[in-house]
Amino acid sequence: MSRRTGKSQAAFERAQAVLVGGVNSPVRAFAAVGGQPAVIAEARGAYVTDLDGNRYIDYVGGYGPAILGHAHPAVVQAITEAVGRGTCPGAPTEAETHLAELICAAFPSVTKLRMTSSGTEAVMSAVRLARGATGRRRIVKCIGCYHGHADALLVSAGSGAAALAAASSAGVPPAAVADTLVVPYNDLGAMERAFDQFAGEIAAVLVEPVAANMGVVPPAAGYLAGLRGLCDRHGALLIFDEVITGFRIARGGAQELYGVRADITAFGKIIGGGLPAGAFGASGEIMAHLAPEGPVYQAGTLSGNPAVTAAGLATLKALQADGFYHRLEQTSGDLERGLRQAAAAAGLEGQVCLNRVGSLLCCFFAPPPVVDFATASAGDAGAFAAYFQAMLEAGIFLAPSPFEAMFVSAAHARAEVQRTVEAAAGAFQRAGRLMESSGRCR
Ligand SMILES: *Cc1c(COP(=O)(O)O)cnc(C)c1O
Repeated sequence: MSRRTGKSQAAFERAQAVLVGGVNSPVRAFAAVGGQPAVIAEARGAYVTDLDGNRYIDYVGGYGPAILGHAHPAVVQAITEAVGRGTCPGAPTEAETHLAELICAAFPSVTKLRMTSSGTEAVMSAVRLARGATGRRRIVKCIGCYHGHADALLVSAGSGAAALAAASSAGVPPAAVADTLVVPYNDLGAMERAFDQFAGEIAAVLVEPVAANMGVVPPAAGYLAGLRGLCDRHGALLIFDEVITGFRIARGGAQELYGVRADITAFGKIIGGGLPAGAFGASGEIMAHLAPEGPVYQAGTLSGNPAVTAAGLATLKALQADGFYHRLEQTSGDLERGLRQAAAAAGLEGQVCLNRVGSLLCCFFAPPPVVDFATASAGDAGAFAAYFQAMLEAGIFLAPSPFEAMFVSAAHARAEVQRTVEAAAGAFQRAGRLMESSGRCR
């Protein structure tokens, strides 16, 4: 309505000529919601500002890293100082050890670590390590969990034999996914059947302990402990992909929150403080299979890069402030309650499902409960698009997909939550009118 878009539109048109779809990662495109992305000039604290000067309260959070808010002064300073000392020594630095010590201290299951430059690499390498350590080939993943874009993990449920996966991307040959099994999230029975069917062949179960790439779907009571038990019984390793949840839902991630230990943990996002980073870690015994100590090869020219390491260290240190996670939980809880009331006031009780774990939130335009990919996919895409556009107009920046989380940061305060809830009141009404006219409301 009043939002100016001329400069963003011109910049995005120019981008489309030289970048595929105008973006460097497909999640940033507006394919699911229509229209064009705002092109961002600056991100600071809880806000992003676009080229036209529109300022939004940000819940994209860089898709996870920005737990302190954007351009946090301590992180900016740490990066600036590190850059001045050279960003690519090609030899060990002390800061790498300091960062690894902080991560190991937060995750008791992790005594040794290897840094990478992305979450994709971390998970891909964790899978290779699990295969090398067990001498087995097959891995099981859950439908709707995202683990980066490595070939073997770009799969969906195949047809035919239970649990056998099909490639979900063009360019992935059948052989690359032949050893990947898929089962629904939160379905221990399906996981048990996969173990029975492929007895002695499964190297690892790979899971997002809180699924946060199909919206936000918490683990059912006992699910993670059940996975732990199955892996132990069958001699398989349990890999938690904590790329989003690590240092997000608790300092010690899902392992702290739910009291279940993984064998191998993958990290990313927050540990890089907004610069490109990932890591995977496990016990010294498992990690001893990794080069240079063991035969599982893994490497990276920019792994443990000083600028990245400095940003990660500054971020993890800021998270050690007294009561940090308690405050984040309070803000996130306030936001959840406000959104719930706004949805109810718009007559959408029973039509939308709000899921939250800590500072990860999601509003599905689907009847509750949303417990897996099937129930998440039952959402009304048109209603989400209407909600998204109304929020954007009102100055609230959400990820342009119903399958992304809202990320709350420490920079979000009472005022931001209040403005978000006020905007949501109108946005839910707009979405509700659409659902009514399409006959989805009962
Ligand atoms: C983002 C993400 C990845 C991939 O990390 P990149 O840094 O984008 O390669 C892997 N697993 C999960 C759970 C993620 O959310």
